[in-house]
Amino acid sequence: MSTPRDGAGDDEAALLAARSVSAQCQCTEALEKLETFLDSEMGELDADRLRTHLEACEPCLEAADLEQRLRNLVRRACHEQAPDGLRARVRTQLTVMSTRVVISRPD
Ligand SMILES: [Zn+2]
Repeated sequence: MSTPRDGAGDDEAALLAARSVSAQCQCTEALEKLETFLDSEMGELDADRLRTHLEACEPCLEAADLEQRLRNLVRRACHEQAPDGLRARVRTQLTVMSTRVVISRPD
């Protein structure tokens, strides 16, 4: 009796692992580039890659959406470009919020 080759399962697991690692890398990269993207200072090629990632990745899309909304809010409040101090404060707040989401656990 011949048995089917048994390597396929392992290959699949390795592929899945590699895929999830690269997905994480893409998220890190996407979030790092978010500001450049929203500032419209990004090259078309990078912008396209980021857009593609945002379409496929809900957490990053939400982060982008939140950042965009904060920017609109700041812009509307100031009627012009936000002062550096305010921008820094908003950015810190954003970082604190996302850090809390990652590390928060019930006591
Ligand atoms: Zn992502």
